[in-house]
Formats: sequence, structure tokens, C-alpha cells
Amino acid sequence: MAILPIRVYPDPVLRVRCAEVTVFDDDLARFVQDMVETMHAAPGVGLAASQVGVEQRVAVVDLSVGEDPAQLLVLVNPVIESREGSEVEGEGCLSIPDLTEKVQRPFRIEVAAQDVHGASRRFAAEGWTARAICHEVDHLDGVLFVDHLAGLKRERAKRHLKRLVKEQGEHEWHAAAPASSL
Ligand SMILES: [Zn+2]
Repeated sequence: MAILPIRVYPDPVLRVRCAEVTVFDDDLARFVQDMVETMHAAPGVGLAASQVGVEQRVAVVDLSVGEDPAQLLVLVNPVIESREGSEVEGEGCLSIPDLTEKVQRPFRIEVAAQDVHGASRRFAAEGWTARAICHEVDHLDGVLFVDHLAGLKRERAKRHLKRLVKEQGEHEWHAAAPASSL
């Protein structure tokens, strides 16, 4: 297993629409293990493949950050099939260090996804689990949480992103991200 470097804004891979996974082999299984290790080490509660530079529709979510193996979700080719209700909570992203803003997300979603072997399943998720899945599926489409902000929050985020562009141009980012990041 290996910890993979996390890509930080404005890395262009964060804007790519990732491709469907069609090959379910040992390489995919190893990549998923590396993603889980990378997410836990960050620490973060979710990670999408494009955040480690791989343009494939793979994401992992673990609200327990490694404390409870039963909470780990491995999502290959995830699709959000329905959305219900709404909830506003503070959200951050491992690829946008040091920014947390309140984002409106559905309270309950239904998800269809494959596992690492290609088996399909369908399940419902609520609250923070639903939020994390929406955040990661957005990543797979090249969408970042700041894209959902409006008004003053959007202006604040824009200023933050501008700073990141400057910093990324000057040095590699080494700061630790908050534990609620995805
Ligand atoms: Zn993120």
C-alpha cells in the first residue's frame, strides 16, 4: 500500500470528467487500497480518484477516518439516482486546503455503484454520508464544492483560490488539511 500525493487547486486534473471503470482487476483493487490509505493519512473523510491524478470514476468515503471498517464505502462508477430534502453544513476539501464554507446538499440520496469486483449495488444514504458521496461524485465530474457557493461566500472562496494559485506557483503545499475534508 502507498500514500499517494493529493492534487491541490489549481491542478487541472481536478476539472476533468473521469472515465467509467471497465476493468475490475488486481490493479484496481490495489489502487482502491492506496486511496483508502491516502484518505486516512490526510486525514479526510472522502477521496476521489482525480484528487490523486487518476481520471477514473472511483471514490472512497469513510466518516470514521479508519476507526470503524464497517463505515468504509468504496464506490466504483457511482451514480446518484435520487435526491431528497436539503441540509446546509460546513464542508471542506483536501484539494482546497484551509477553506470551509456552508454548502447546501440533499439530505437523503439513493446511490447505485459497483464494488471493486464489479458487483452492482443500490443503497440509500443520509446526512453527512450523503453529503460526502455528493462531494465525491462531483469530483468525478470535475466539480468542486466552491462551485456551489453564491454571493459573499463565493467571493470569499474566489479570494482563497487566488491565494492557492499563487502559493502553488511558489512551492509545494505541505499544510495538513482539517479532518472534515473530502
Ligand atoms: Zn474534495
